[in-house]
Amino acid sequence: MGETERIVQRMSDQGLRITEQRRTLAQLFAEAPGYLTPKEIYDHMQRVYPGLSFDTVYRNLRVMQELDVIEQFMLEEGVKFKRSCGEPHHHHHMICLQCEKTVPIRSCPMPDTAVPSGFEVVRHKFEVYGYCADCRESGDRAQASAGRTP
Ligand SMILES: [Zn+2]
Ligand SMILES: [Zn+2]
Ligand SMILES: [Zn+2]
Repeated sequence: MGETERIVQRMSDQGLRITEQRRTLAQLFAEAPGYLTPKEIYDHMQRVYPGLSFDTVYRNLRVMQELDVIEQFMLEEGVKFKRSCGEPHHHHHMICLQCEKTVPIRSCPMPDTAVPSGFEVVRHKFEVYGYCADCRESGDRAQASAGRTP
């Protein structure tokens, strides 16, 4: 089974109706090597479905995120999305600032967090940034950055 089919399968297993648009999004994420900005996603969708509204695309991204087939990240340049790393349990991420390689980490700081009384926690984020072994080895961060596909 290809990655697109895997994503589509996971969405339909969870009761989501698979529209052409959702299939197209699944394929986009399946084929994307890394992160996609909302604008990149919207531009792609508009090429396939001229006249499609940004709201419609964003609603589908929200749905896909809730079903955990994609994950949302807050990077320095803003919000980006990528295919879920496939980790079945609650996890956080370690992200390379150079190549954006993302590794799931199992430990969660939430149990050690003092929550003020009366505060209801509904979600939390915890991300660790740095440079992966490959990028540290290559040493030339600027050059690697220029070679990255936009
Ligand atoms: Zn993940
Ligand atoms: Zn890296
Ligand atoms: Zn956590």
